[in-house]
Amino acid sequence: MLLQLQPAFKDYLWGGTRLKTDFGFQTDLDPVAEGWMLSCHKDGQNTVKNGKHKGKTLSQVIAEEGKGLLGTHCADRTEFPILIKLIDAKQNLSVQVHPDDAYARRVEGEPGKTECWYILDCDEGAELIYGFKQKISKAEFRERIENNTFLEVVNHVKVHKGDFFFIEAGTLHAIGGGILLAEIQQNSNTTYRVYDYGRLGADGKPRPLHTEKALDVTVTAPPARASKPEGHTVHKDGYTEQLLTTCSLFTVHAIKIESAYQSVADKTSFVSVLITEGNGEISCSGETLALKKGDSVFLSANSGSFQIKGSLSCVETRI
Ligand code: ZN
Repeated sequence: MLLQLQPAFKDYLWGGTRLKTDFGFQTDLDPVAEGWMLSCHKDGQNTVKNGKHKGKTLSQVIAEEGKGLLGTHCADRTEFPILIKLIDAKQNLSVQVHPDDAYARRVEGEPGKTECWYILDCDEGAELIYGFKQKISKAEFRERIENNTFLEVVNHVKVHKGDFFFIEAGTLHAIGGGILLAEIQQNSNTTYRVYDYGRLGADGKPRPLHTEKALDVTVTAPPARASKPEGHTVHKDGYTEQLLTTCSLFTVHAIKIESAYQSVADKTSFVSVLITEGNGEISCSGETLALKKGDSVFLSANSGSFQIKGSLSCVETRI
């Protein structure tokens, strides 16, 4: 089953306008901070744009057709496993941290949040925060939050198009202004805000900080993982492919198609394809959909072989 998805948008105060101007999305929101491109989360459901399920939410389609749509790797899961977003940060996001599964289930009643970022575009000199420069104690972390000096001990990283970051739950992080990225994450909306640059929310008040929970879950040390894709770019017939990450939560590739790309949605997992540049078309079991930048397609598990033709870049995610 080949489903084209209508994203949900968010107008968080740090957002920009590029999801409208560069990606052509139609929304009255201003700014547009996030597009939830593959989402069954209650805070922003995708709806289906094509075929017999047109107009239904993706969650409804899965409820009607059965969890087999997700594949055997999701057989034991009670929720949809991931959430994929496009994020346009015109300004800095708050410095934040997410809990792991055990803590989030116990305290928030939803999964934890490990996420990863693939940089699609950025301003010259744009940077983000990724963990700590060196190990510090929880006491020092608390003290530096309270006296506003903790930005001195965090790891500021300059970014470039094509960079990739794996943000394990517990890693302090912040996307900086001037960065446009694709985020693949666990299906959770739990964020503990540590620092918000002294900004006021839409209601004129500072947004709440969650210092105690952040202290509980933050690993106050440099990130364990290198901030780079896990694989090299591999040239194949008609396309190039790069493994960004593979872990127990998701497997993500960046694929640049010059003419055509052929693959299979097997029984183990659905396949998410998010178009980040260019245009073309996707075909699967006799059905064809036109594709352009910003389109998000869900191929259910066991859909069999599919082909993408055209000149385009995409992020492909499987479980
Ligand atoms: Zn985050």
